[in-house]
Amino acid sequence: MTDLDYSNLLKRASSLTAVERIEDERFKIPKVDIFYEGNTTVLRNFDKIVQILNREATHLLKYFLGNVGTAGEVSGGRLIFQGKIPVKTLQDKLNDYIDTYVLCSECNRPDTHLMKKGRTILIRCDACGAIHSIKSMKKRQTSSPIETLKMGSEYELTIKDIGKRGDGVAFFDKYIVYVTGAVKGSTVKVKIDKISGNVAFGRIV
Ligand SMILES: [Zn+2]
Repeated sequence: MTDLDYSNLLKRASSLTAVERIEDERFKIPKVDIFYEGNTTVLRNFDKIVQILNREATHLLKYFLGNVGTAGEVSGGRLIFQGKIPVKTLQDKLNDYIDTYVLCSECNRPDTHLMKKGRTILIRCDACGAIHSIKSMKKRQTSSPIETLKMGSEYELTIKDIGKRGDGVAFFDKYIVYVTGAVKGSTVKVKIDKISGNVAFGRIV
C-alpha cells in the first residue's frame, strides 16, 4: 500500500464516521404519509418507516392492525388499512411503537434491537448497552387518556371528507364520525346518535 492510498483511506474513513454521526443526531420520528382510497386508508411510506426504524415489517404491521383495530395488508411497500383512519391516530400509534419498541429508555437513541427471552421481549441498546423489557414500558403508556365520544353529546367537528353514501366524514380521537348532510371543509356542531366500535354517526344540530 502506498502512502497516498493510505491517506485516501483515512480520509474516506473519517468522512464516513462524520456522516454516520450526523445521521444519528438527525433521528426524527417519521411522519405517516397517508391518503384515502375508497373505504381504505393507504399508508404510503410504510416500507420507508420500517427501514428507518430498522424493525421487522411484520412486527410493525401487527402492531398497527392490533392497535388501530382494523384489518389490513402490505402491498407494494404500502400498508392498506380497511376503513378511514385519522392521520392523528396513525401518527400516535407510530409514536407509541417507537417509544415502546425502538427508542432506548436510558439514552433515548434509536440504535436498538429486540431480543426474546422466554415470553418477554427485551430491547437492547447498541449505543449504551442498556437492556429493558417491553412490558414495563407498556404499562407506563396505558395511563395516557383516550377521549371517548358519548352518545347524545354534542361536539364541534370539522368535516374532512365525504363518505360513499354522501355523509360528511369527521374524526375525533380514534373515532370516525359520519355526519348526515354535512359539507366537506365545514366545521359543524354534531350530536352523536350512534356509536359502534370506533365508528360513530351524528347529525348537525
Ligand atoms: Zn441506550
